[in-house]
Amino acid sequence: MTKRMLIYNARLFTPHHPGQLGWLLTKNGQIRSIGFGQRPILPGTGEVEEVDAQGNMLLPGFIDLHVHGAMGHELMDGSASGLEEMARFYASHGVTSFLATTWTASRDSISKALELVEEMQGPIPGGATLLGVHLEGPYLNPARCGAQDVRLIRRAEREEALPFIESGVIRLLALAPEYEENLWLIDECVKRGITVSAAHTAANYEQMQAAAAHGLAQVTHTFNAMQGLGHREPGTVGAALTTPHISCELIADNIHVHPAVQKILVDVKSPAGVILITDAIRAAGLPEGEYMLDDRSVRIQEGAVRLPDGTLAGSILTMERALQNLCAATGRPLTELWVTSSLNAARAIGVSSHKGSLEVGKDADLVLLDESFEVQVTVVQGEVVYPFLPQTG
Ligand SMILES: [Zn+2]
Repeated sequence: MTKRMLIYNARLFTPHHPGQLGWLLTKNGQIRSIGFGQRPILPGTGEVEEVDAQGNMLLPGFIDLHVHGAMGHELMDGSASGLEEMARFYASHGVTSFLATTWTASRDSISKALELVEEMQGPIPGGATLLGVHLEGPYLNPARCGAQDVRLIRRAEREEALPFIESGVIRLLALAPEYEENLWLIDECVKRGITVSAAHTAANYEQMQAAAAHGLAQVTHTFNAMQGLGHREPGTVGAALTTPHISCELIADNIHVHPAVQKILVDVKSPAGVILITDAIRAAGLPEGEYMLDDRSVRIQEGAVRLPDGTLAGSILTMERALQNLCAATGRPLTELWVTSSLNAARAIGVSSHKGSLEVGKDADLVLLDESFEVQVTVVQGEVVYPFLPQTG
């Protein structure tokens, strides 16, 4: 059966006319047509679900490439129902696709996480689509471990890492590129179409240049857990800012990165070079208090997640807040910044031919936001997943 949905009276954030009032029609999970001005009278018969957007903003659904958990669950728990609950929580915050993200862990727990995602990859009923895995660690720098478990950080050995990347579910792999022993892994990832990002790293400018020559194309939570910008040693940050093909992840919760520094990043890289992520952990969506990270506890207070020693340990950020914060921090309008929550991420992991923008033929992954960035409706491949309405009739 043909299934169509018409969303009209919406400010559409399309690549060519962002912010213009118009309508969008979906058919069988894809964007069928887009127009500006008054809604069309639809020819033909068959059911059409109609949504009056009341002048609200219709954006491509958010794509979160770096998210560990929510609602008390994390990928590393290895639970299918937990992953489903995460996907539904993300959808309630406008996310239509995500990469479930690992922590530094034993080979065994990482393999289990990869197997779980292999089983569950694709659309999750009532939730965001699971696009695969972001492997964050274990090949990091212990000196910049942040909340990654320093006891399990190691160098990339073929015997362990090759089976990981041959699983076919990893789309993004974050490592510390300053180690000779990790460089081969960049080459192997690039060969397989896996994007490589520099993370938890003390790489200096030259080491980053070398890694970029191997194909490193991204920097993980820019400014956090890396060597900062010095005027004589540009560091990891300096290399990220000045290398055009490197995209910069950003946790825009105003805790990980000061708003003024968020502005610097967007001014230097342009909106096309910045990818908003949440880096959210299991406490996202839950009240403030004490939670377990792995076998260590974290405290959530005033919107920050910290280990007992005060180290930041991921966030409880959601994507619509990240986008709102970035608009406020940079003073730039959504007509410029909408790409930071969708298209840039889609491009970074090679799915922009079918996701990441409001264009005819792409998946109907949509989020409708009101003026205060509250999520009104989330649509995944033509299906309303938020608010969840029980089927009638
Ligand atoms: Zn991290």
